[in-house]
Amino acid sequence: MIVTRFAPSPTGYLHLGHAFAALTAQEAAAGGRFLLRIEDLDATRAREEYVRAIIEDLRWLGLEWHGPVLRQSARLAIYRAALDRLAAQELLYPCFCTRAEIAAEIARAAEAHHGPDGPLYPGTCRSLSPNDRATALSSGAPYALRLDSGRAASRLSGLSFEERGEGSGFRPIAVDPLLFGDIVMARKETPASYHLAVVVDDAEQGVTLVTRGVDLLAATHAQRVLQTLLGLPAPRYAHHRLILDEAGRKLSKRDASATLGSSRQQGATAREIRMALAIP
Ligand code: GLU
Repeated sequence: MIVTRFAPSPTGYLHLGHAFAALTAQEAAAGGRFLLRIEDLDATRAREEYVRAIIEDLRWLGLEWHGPVLRQSARLAIYRAALDRLAAQELLYPCFCTRAEIAAEIARAAEAHHGPDGPLYPGTCRSLSPNDRATALSSGAPYALRLDSGRAASRLSGLSFEERGEGSGFRPIAVDPLLFGDIVMARKETPASYHLAVVVDDAEQGVTLVTRGVDLLAATHAQRVLQTLLGLPAPRYAHHRLILDEAGRKLSKRDASATLGSSRQQGATAREIRMALAIP
């Protein structure tokens, strides 16, 4: 049985791009299970008002999901346990750098390595001496936990994931475990990173096929690494095209005019939205 999910972050109203993602996920389940997960770990941006609007918009589109909605904010202890498993493998280190310090360090470096989200963390705190690390920890300074990706990579070989894109056949894509550098796994205001929470939840919800926008294709490299380190099963993947605005830009949550709510207020029907997205 195929199990898919739609996993929006409630940091704004849904727009046509989300409608496409949600309908694609439901269709890809092909009579199996379609699940809904609210990715509300970023307490500085997530709002209840958006959660309510998301559920209302999805129902209006005619979507039905299997079982209760999973809320990431209710699962912090579970993510903590996953962090502990990584820590037990000596794959995490505390990073005390501020964003400004990281930017300055990158500017100083002769050549900065770039990843899909921009320049990679230069690894400053990875090489702190045990003494300096202990002093910083006891000072109470806030810190993030980062994955030592080099160490992780040295323990993994030949990793890949199965990608279908919008076609019908799956093909393996080789994983680059260093693609995102030493990614943040947790920080004070976000106790589990997006990557960590996603792999833990996809496994727990029994997701067999992850469908999502192609802008998250690169993220799959980091997620496959974490699945392997945590001993979680690997779903298959089908990354789909993004819905663009007239100027060819990706729709954004800041773009109020493109929300499903505003289309509805202007009299659009769910059928028209599906037709505009070419989804039966
Ligand atoms: N919550 C993510 C987003 O809204 C999607 C996560 C995923 O599908 O893996 O962009």
